[in-house]
Amino acid sequence: MGTLPVYRWRLAPDGYATYRQLRALGLRPGGQDVAAQLERPRRRRDPLVAYLYRIDHAKPVRPMTPAKWAALAKANAARRTCPACRRDAGYVIPPTLGTCATCAFPDEQCAA
Ligand SMILES: [Zn+2]
Repeated sequence: MGTLPVYRWRLAPDGYATYRQLRALGLRPGGQDVAAQLERPRRRRDPLVAYLYRIDHAKPVRPMTPAKWAALAKANAARRTCPACRRDAGYVIPPTLGTCATCAFPDEQCAA
């Protein structure tokens, strides 16, 4: 990492952006290594360092990947599962009840 080009703050070459600047453009580093770093000198402290990525190597941000959707579905399934009877209630368990309606109100259960 000692061979990275270092630029002065505000003197970054065209085509480079910090992580936050990429995000503002709807981009992400996309697995690329840090291409350069910016240093902003500060009095009596270590310089402030920002890492730069190449914009032409950046990839668009994908808001939801299939893995993220799967994780979300799993989280929703967990919220629908009654902790008392372990069944999928088919709706999110109301926090006020803590269990599905069948467990919360066993007397009102219809014999079906
Ligand atoms: Zn239940």
